Amino acid sequence: MLRMSGFSFAQARDPQHAVELFAGSDQAAWLAGGTDLLPAIKLKVQQPKLLIGLGQALPRTFEEQGGELVLGAGLRLSDLARRGPEPLAEAAASIAGPQIRAMGTLGGNVMLDTRCRFYNQSAHWREALGGCLKASGDICHVTGAPKSCVASQCADTIPALLVLGARLRLLSVEGPRELSLAEFLRYDGLRPHAVRPGELLTHVILPQRGGVGASAKLRPRGSIDFPLISMSAWARLEGPEARIEELRVAIGATNPQPKVLPGIEAYIGQPLDEERIQAIAEAAWMRTRPQGSLAGDVAWRRQVTRVFVARLLRRLRSQHQEIA
Ligand SMILES: Cc1cc2nc3c(=O)[nH]c(=O)nc-3n(C[C@H](O)[C@H](O)[C@H](O)COP(=O)(O)OP(=O)(O)OC[C@H]3O[C@@H](n4cnc5c(N)ncnc54)[C@H](O)[C@@H]3O)c2cc1C
Ligand code: SF4
Repeated sequence: MLRMSGFSFAQARDPQHAVELFAGSDQAAWLAGGTDLLPAIKLKVQQPKLLIGLGQALPRTFEEQGGELVLGAGLRLSDLARRGPEPLAEAAASIAGPQIRAMGTLGGNVMLDTRCRFYNQSAHWREALGGCLKASGDICHVTGAPKSCVASQCADTIPALLVLGARLRLLSVEGPRELSLAEFLRYDGLRPHAVRPGELLTHVILPQRGGVGASAKLRPRGSIDFPLISMSAWARLEGPEARIEELRVAIGATNPQPKVLPGIEAYIGQPLDEERIQAIAEAAWMRTRPQGSLAGDVAWRRQVTRVFVARLLRRLRSQHQEIA
């Protein structure tokens, strides 16, 4: 049986109270839905001494502000799946299973740590292997080198938020600040987020409204598993030819940093027809190099990227044709 190590607990009343409780502690952790943190404590991949409960402290609201949609970080994944804009709703609906979506939050998903088959294991398992760069060792078992950790960013909302151009609002005792999601994500499996100690994610801001969106995910079991590939696409298309005004595709669960596929701007003004769809899918294949930090053959995961991009783009075109 996996037992949790001891910790103390403090319940925050609101975001300001939460950051004050955290201030000065180098061993505190935020506890939102706990669906990732509590298993991580059992596996001893995280061992905080103080948990700060966010249960009632974070907003769970969908608010319109100056033409933007502002989402509270405390929104449950199940709420996002029901009421979120596409492609975020479809991405949220694909996370874990219904019980976890009812507890897990948007904030906890955005702040999800990177994952690796050599790391998300029990302490005994990791010790038997001699640890790794992310767990008191000096080598990466994926690359075989002592340099960098290539654990994968598996949070399924991230590709959707990237294509929607999301910004994050963070709060610390020094006050609030905003940064774009793209600035927040780093190619570093050890420290995948550009946050300072004690910063709390309070809101996710979506400037992008309207358009058509869709998400897709490769995973071992469709009912519950983390992704082996996670992707989202969003577009603004025009007229019966589905001419591209804006189009973004983002791919996650391949390495520490999900990214928007570059080069698609070249297709602006052109119809989203089968020829362009194949060309963009080919470009996605060329530019995707999944790391072996997740299970599943790397070449197969790369091939799936091409197939999924083509399917997503066809779905965007059909959605547009239905509403046009
Ligand atoms: C069986 C199983 C399957 C899963 N499948 C998936 C999956 O398919 N896709 C997926 O994306 N996830 C999956 N998860 C992981 C998890 O359930 C989700 O990522 C969920 O959204 C985490 O949210 P939470 O509120 O429970 O976060 P918590 O577990 O409470 O926290 C997660 C991390 O975020 C930090 N944190 C939480 N809220 C904030 C905040 N507001 N500001 C700053 N830091 C914060 C915590 O300190 C912690 O480090 C799965 C988990 C399990 C157990
Ligand atoms: S990618 Fe390498 S260093 Fe990172 S968790 Fe996996 S084995 Fe460890």
